[in-house]
Amino acid sequence: MVASIHRPTRIIVHNEAISQNVKNEIARLPKGRELFAVVKANGYGHGAIAVAKAARAGGATGFCVATLDEGIELREAGFTEPILVLGVVDVVYLPLLAEYQLAFPVASENWLVQAREYLATTEITAPLLAHVKVDTGMGRIGFQDKEAVLRGIDTLKTLPSMVFEGIFTHFATADEADGQYYQEQHAAFKDILESLPEKPRYIHVSNSATALWHEEELGNMVRYGVALYGLNPSGHTLEASYPLQPALEFVSQLVQVKQVPQGAKIGYGATYTAPKAEWIGTVPVGYADGWLRKMSGFSVLVEGVYCEIIGRVCMDQFMIRLPHEFPEGTKVTLVGKNKEQEITLQDIADHLDTIHYEVACLLSERIPRDYQK
Ligand SMILES: *Cc1c(COP(=O)(O)O)cnc(C)c1O
Repeated sequence: MVASIHRPTRIIVHNEAISQNVKNEIARLPKGRELFAVVKANGYGHGAIAVAKAARAGGATGFCVATLDEGIELREAGFTEPILVLGVVDVVYLPLLAEYQLAFPVASENWLVQAREYLATTEITAPLLAHVKVDTGMGRIGFQDKEAVLRGIDTLKTLPSMVFEGIFTHFATADEADGQYYQEQHAAFKDILESLPEKPRYIHVSNSATALWHEEELGNMVRYGVALYGLNPSGHTLEASYPLQPALEFVSQLVQVKQVPQGAKIGYGATYTAPKAEWIGTVPVGYADGWLRKMSGFSVLVEGVYCEIIGRVCMDQFMIRLPHEFPEGTKVTLVGKNKEQEITLQDIADHLDTIHYEVACLLSERIPRDYQK
């Protein structure tokens, strides 16, 4: 989708906030532990390249992405730091992983069998950077028990060009107040680590929530994701030990302002009826931008005043009730500060009954991203 640069709707990303969040986390980490910035899904909707640069400026020494293509995007943009693809990559793409020097998960015996068959027919000379993934209770990808892990590592070492570069796991409940399930996963991984005949270069277990709320003694690298963007991984549950600075601002303008008489209908389905004469503003943002129809009833900020979204959100526009007339072209804040008030991605997530991760990822490519210091 083409970014609509000739429409007054913008996402403004504050690079400084990203750098600062990274710096604050690094200051807390034990000495020698690296921070890899997770920039999957186009940097959680913020823009992968710009986020990666800002994170690097803050001290990140590597990156994590979800897919091979996201890794290639970073390499083509000139990043030379280590990059780990977190999702399973089909063995037919081993040449690309080698060419771009992207690390990847080895998560099952089946995958190793396929890799062996593939490598028997295709010669690869550059190192293949394998990170063994252990499923200690997330139930997503990874070897499920110690014996399988140890067998997997042995097999791995027999494959040509394959380097055992890392081992990792992922916690399912690090953002919750109750630490019991976390402790079970932690103990399972610790047990596996202790039985390894040799340790790989990278050992990593921490997402943002683990890094923030568990004085984690395991590992020498953290996979710092959502907190990098200034978002609290737990939502409202736990408090971060340093102030997370939100990086994303979402703004637009009133493209039309009009007074309607009592009884006037607004929007598709004519679901809203003005109870009295009212000032109505039209905002050029809709569900095609990731501003879902369920946002009806939520409010946006105009000159520091909360203005309710009335009627149904259209594909490309929505309407708000204004307290009085405003000039056309007046700024509308959908996310961020406006005068004394602020709307956060968390507020939107609460309205939609979801998590801010999802809200950020849904903001579509149609909205241009502007980057500020
Ligand atoms: C997405 C992801 C992360 C980052 O998680 P946050 O909650 O955003 O910090 C870390 N590790 C893995 C395996 C992931 O998929």
